Amino acid sequence: MNPHLYLLALGSNQRHPQFGRPRDVLEVALDLMAPDVGEVLARSPVITSAPVGPSQRQYANGAAVVASKWAPCDMLVALQAVEQAMGRKRMGQRWRSRTLDLDIILWSGGIVAEQDLQIPHPRFRERTFVLGPAAAIAPDWRDPVTGLTVKQLHARLTRKRPVPR
Ligand code: ADP
Ligand code: MG
Repeated sequence: MNPHLYLLALGSNQRHPQFGRPRDVLEVALDLMAPDVGEVLARSPVITSAPVGPSQRQYANGAAVVASKWAPCDMLVALQAVEQAMGRKRMGQRWRSRTLDLDIILWSGGIVAEQDLQIPHPRFRERTFVLGPAAAIAPDWRDPVTGLTVKQLHARLTRKRPVPR
């Protein structure tokens, strides 16, 4: 069985020559998770934000809950393999930038503070594009650092602030 639970954030802002739009890239990435990465127990709706400024790129973000046999460092390696399988495309001689970003937001084991892996993800509390999808599938999951749930963190971020006078 898969002993560990992970909350993942997925992002894409490039079309994939085979799989299509960023939102399709996220869906295909989740389809690739079994059997190597783990079992996808929940996937959020994908949110899309319009391209900003001169960029033509649409952003797609989503979240997933995955049950895995992997401890965090091995999980990161497995996720990076999916990023590489999905995320890079040959353009002439060089590799274009990544099409897929997979981040570990939380896991069932609490805090990880390694040099190249921090869980909870250090910046997730400020990102609506992470917390929005995450709150849709894991609202009651508690951040071990602040003690707040994903739903509370999301509400804190999106709550209307008083109008400055
Ligand atoms: P970003 O996600 O910030 O756009 P990358 O995906 O290129 O950037 O990640 C850079 C490095 O972040 C990875 O090589 C990994 O070692 C490190 N990292 C630290 N904590 C995490 C985490 N919780 N999830 C994913 N990567 C992490
Ligand atoms: Mg990343």
